[in-house]
Order: sequence, then structure tokens, then C-alpha cells
Amino acid sequence: MTNWFELEKKYYMRTFDRYPVTLVRGEGARVWDNANKQYLDFFGGLAVTVLGHSHPAVTKAIIEQAQTLIQTSNLYYTIPQLQLAEILVQNSCLQQVFFANSGAEVNEGAVKLARRYGKIKLGGAYEVLTVTNSFHGRTLAMTAATGQIKMQEPYKPMPEGFKNVEFNNLDALKLAIGDQTCAIMLELIQGEGGVNTPATGYYHSVRELCDRKGILLILDEIQTGMGRLGTLWGYQQFGIEPDVMTLAKGLANGVPIGALLAKEHASVFVPGDHGSTFGGNPLACAAGYATLKYVIENDIPGNSARVGNYFMTGLKSLQQKYSFVTDVRGRGLLLAMEFNKDIGPQALLQCLNKGLLVNKVKPNALRFMPPLIITEREADEALNILDGVLAGFVV
Ligand code: PLP
Repeated sequence: MTNWFELEKKYYMRTFDRYPVTLVRGEGARVWDNANKQYLDFFGGLAVTVLGHSHPAVTKAIIEQAQTLIQTSNLYYTIPQLQLAEILVQNSCLQQVFFANSGAEVNEGAVKLARRYGKIKLGGAYEVLTVTNSFHGRTLAMTAATGQIKMQEPYKPMPEGFKNVEFNNLDALKLAIGDQTCAIMLELIQGEGGVNTPATGYYHSVRELCDRKGILLILDEIQTGMGRLGTLWGYQQFGIEPDVMTLAKGLANGVPIGALLAKEHASVFVPGDHGSTFGGNPLACAAGYATLKYVIENDIPGNSARVGNYFMTGLKSLQQKYSFVTDVRGRGLLLAMEFNKDIGPQALLQCLNKGLLVNKVKPNALRFMPPLIITEREADEALNILDGVLAGFVV
């Protein structure tokens, strides 16, 4: 039998510290490895598979589109792209859309858009403010945007035009804004940074600040959008609206896609300013349209809120039971559990052995981002496994 671990070691660049499992199949909230062992998937393809694996509505759309037209060029009109653009606009506060293929790529697009805005409306302002512990992607510019020194260090010098200031500190943002600032870019809940939540009123104040200074508020909803926090878009939970929003991850339930959305006043690109070969192709957009339509028509964000609350209550009970659990946090189905010691890696492997996929977001914290279609029974199953694993850490 082929040893896939050996093949990976030989042929794949050393970019991932992988877990010792080869996944071959998925259905709903479950995946199977090549020895046919079943796992409950609270990793969700890294907050991607909002409708679960192999969802029939998405699979049908992909098959039909693959049999019809996969790729043309953005120099022609294509129907799935415009259907997806329309449903996005009709169900958000933004008015125009551009499609690319990943989160980093649409964040790059957002920064280019903000710089065009700065050139046209703000006398050439180009600087984008981001915050500590944020994550905006792995391209060079998004590494500079990402407020984590450890990710920037190996690649210095960083591209210019980004300033990272302390998260949750309004005064730091106010101080950092200067004549060259064209935008502030934020995640509503910092996913990769540790499921960090904002202080009460922080986003209201940030929105006011942007309005007062005439600069753009870019919300990176790549992880928080598509129902993850319990509403279709995260901004609905915080009572603010962005000028620009980026989406990726769950938008096509696993088919690579990213969307850059802007309000009318911020939608300043003209032909030639930006583009993409694959971005917005019929296959990805058909998958995206089927996913978003299903999410809206079946109130998937409602399920995320309901089961998210239920799961959170269970996590809080575990916190009561185990004194080394110092915090549980998050919203909807983007949740984390933090410990007073670095047991994340061990806890993750023990969950894996017991058939539960979770993420170690920090050495001392696990993150949960299951498909948004999970049931309370599946949440109970995950909680039982977690309980058993945590019991092993009692000293
Ligand atoms: N922005 C946020 C908030 C993310 O969570 C991620 C990925 O984790 C990205 C951007 C980058 O997306 P991608 O990996 O699709 O480039």
C-alpha cells in the first residue's frame, strides 16, 4: 500500500506540520481516512465547509456547471458570476463585487481599491492600518498587513504602506491615523490570532473614526462571513456597516473563490485597474451561488447561532469541571477553549485518536469551526470526546 506520509516528505515543500491522517472522503459533518476510520469534523476544512462535506445542492451545481462551461475569460459575460454577484449584493449592505480565488487575493484587491480611493479622493493617501494578532493572508503584502511579527520576520523587508497597531485600543488607532491613511482593515473576531473578540463598542468607535476622517473601513469577513458567527455577515452582530468587505473560505463550500465587495462610493476601479484569469469563473461561481442560496433559504446562520450557543454552554460546563480551562470564547460556530498550560498539541492528537478533528489555534488553545449544519447531537458527541480528553490532563 502506498505510504502517503513518505510521499509527502519526499515531494511536498515543508510548509505544513500535518497530522498523521490521510483523509479521503466526507459527508455532512463527518470525514473518513484511508483506513475507513470516521471522524467528526470540527475543523471544517479550516472554517470552509459551511454546508458540510459533499452537500448535494453544491455537488449538483458543480457537476452541472462542469458539464456546461468551466472557464472563459472575464472579457465575456458569464451567468453564474452575475447570479452570485446579485445574490451577494441583494443580501448585504455592499453594492458591487469582484471575484478572485482566495482570501489573500481579495484582501490584496481591497488594499488596491483603498489605494485607488486614496489617490482619487484623499490626495494620494495609501496607508492601511491593521491591528495586532490579525491575519489577512500569506502573500507578501498581506503578510505585511497581518499584525504578527513572527510571520513577517522571515520575509523582511516588508512592502510599505501598512501600520499594525494594538487591537482593541481606539487611542492607538487614532494616534496612527495620519495624512497618508486611506483605510483601516479589521477582522471582526480574529480567527487565526486566537478567536479574539472585541471590547464592547470598539467597532462602533472605529466606524465613527473612519467617518470622521473620511477613510474606508475594510472588514475582512473571510472567516466570520457566510453565517459563521450566527448571522449571514459578522458586521450584522456589531451594528456597523463596512465600506469594503472581503469573503472567501465558506463562500463556495470548498471550491476556491474570494469576493471583494464595496459600497458605491468606494467602488472606484475602472477597466484595467484590477483583474484575474480564474477569478469569478463559472465553476467557482456556480458552487458559490448554490452555497449562498442554500445558506440563505435554509437559515443556516440561525442554526449556527443556535447550535453555537448550545456548544458554547457545553464548553462552559467543561470550564467549570476542569480548573485548567481558563477561557471559552467566540460567537456562533467560531469558538475557542484556552488552557493555563500548553496542552493544545496533545489534546488535539487525543481528540484525533478518539475521532474528533479540532484545531490548535495556539499552543494553549483549541479552536472549533465545524460545518454550520451540525446538530445538537453532534455538538454533544464532540463535547463528550473533549470531556474524555480533558479528564486525562487532570493532575
Ligand atoms: N483573512 C482571514 C480572516 C483568514 O482567516 C484567512 C485564512 O485563514 C485569510 C484572510 C487568508 O485566506 P486564504 O488562505 O484563502 O488566502
